[in-house]
Amino acid sequence: MYKLSRFNHFQSGPDAYHIAYNASSGAVALMTEENYAAFRRLAEKLSNGQAPVLTDDERQLVQQLVYGRFVYEGARDETRSFKFMHRRARFDTQNLGLVIAPTMACNMACEYCFEGNKAGRMSHEVAQAVVGFVDGQAPLLRSLDVCWYGGEPLLAMDIIEALTADFMDIAKKHEIPYDASMISNGYLLTRDVVDRLRDMRVNQIQITLDGPSHVHNRKRPLKNGKESFGRILENITYASGFMSISVRVNVDRTFTGDMVQQLLDELAAAGLQKRVAVNFGKIESSTTACANIAEQCYGNRDFAAIEAEFYRLLLENGFLIESLPSPTATVCMSQQINSVLVDHEGYLYRCFNYVGDHAKSTGKISEPLDYHHEEFQKLFAFDPFEDAECRGCSILPICMGGCPARRAEDGVPTDQLCDSWKHNLEPMLEIIALERQQRMTAAVEEKS
Ligand code: SF4
Ligand code: SF4
Repeated sequence: MYKLSRFNHFQSGPDAYHIAYNASSGAVALMTEENYAAFRRLAEKLSNGQAPVLTDDERQLVQQLVYGRFVYEGARDETRSFKFMHRRARFDTQNLGLVIAPTMACNMACEYCFEGNKAGRMSHEVAQAVVGFVDGQAPLLRSLDVCWYGGEPLLAMDIIEALTADFMDIAKKHEIPYDASMISNGYLLTRDVVDRLRDMRVNQIQITLDGPSHVHNRKRPLKNGKESFGRILENITYASGFMSISVRVNVDRTFTGDMVQQLLDELAAAGLQKRVAVNFGKIESSTTACANIAEQCYGNRDFAAIEAEFYRLLLENGFLIESLPSPTATVCMSQQINSVLVDHEGYLYRCFNYVGDHAKSTGKISEPLDYHHEEFQKLFAFDPFEDAECRGCSILPICMGGCPARRAEDGVPTDQLCDSWKHNLEPMLEIIALERQQRMTAAVEEKS
């Protein structure tokens, strides 16, 4: 007996197609009018609660729908399955995700930075404690992932190199796959640094460009007041030949479509249309260090609307659309028992936004992890399957309840925590479908 998934979304698409999307698989499909009519007839048969008599064509259609999880075998309960995956991911101790801030120093002075002006580098003792922590876990691990964070991590390249050598030795000894990524402002990502990072298996870097050159240079000046855009763009151009680069554009109410267009023109002039993934992020006034920009910040719903407009510009300018509504088992590291963020002094945190704020630390890397620490429990305790709105939500698999820190810290109600997808799924699915069509057409043209 088959059942229709409760995570299905259908909407009109381009050229008389219908877009079919399922939030539990992330599958996006284009259906012809004929296929969609066949689906609706089938859906009616499946909804009447009795085993339907299917034609050969309908049986074939069911196979395809099962593949995309639009339809599933009725013997299992899809919400319960997702709840199981969520809880398994929470308590998974076989995969270690380590976020390391080897320094809190930064070479830039961005107006909205939540980290304030900090300094300091990881000492040899703290680095050894980090290595000891990984070594202690290694016998039970199936994978080891490190994300280099800061401050600006490239200001501590020597520490990254020393730690990576130890991590790679441990991974080799225990036959564990090792992967690394980085969040950087990109200014120090020179050719030599890229080549060294490749040797250290850093295969993905997120770099921020806050608009076209004239805007970025104002918002993200170097500490010495000099401009940074030109050199970052040059660095991205080389790096994107060897690793996956995502360009993050932080958006507040002062940011306009014209600025996005100018930025895309500059990226296109550097040949980066198909070589980087551009994503838009909402600036949040998350600490007192950036409370001064609170009025300029978007709310979730407003941001979702402007975000879709900006993605449409990406599409119109021939850029890749890499922001996909993909299912995830947990919203972020704060809900995973074996994800650990450690700062240069060895303090541990549950959220990227807390780094450097000792009052929000859950302990130190040199001590056993304290799962009962109030700061650990505060974010870990939230469970989207215990929230009535989230439990019944048709996009639960891609949102998983929104940011636990905002929920815990600010007491923000569920409807204001909803991911952008809740508000812009329809226009975004249209953009994604059109971009996939463009890619397919280009691939066909290339072959012929
Ligand atoms: S708690 Fe919220 S801000 Fe912190 S890492 Fe998770 S999603 Fe991001
Ligand atoms: S926070 Fe909103 S969008 Fe996310 S799962 Fe809950 S109800 Fe759905």
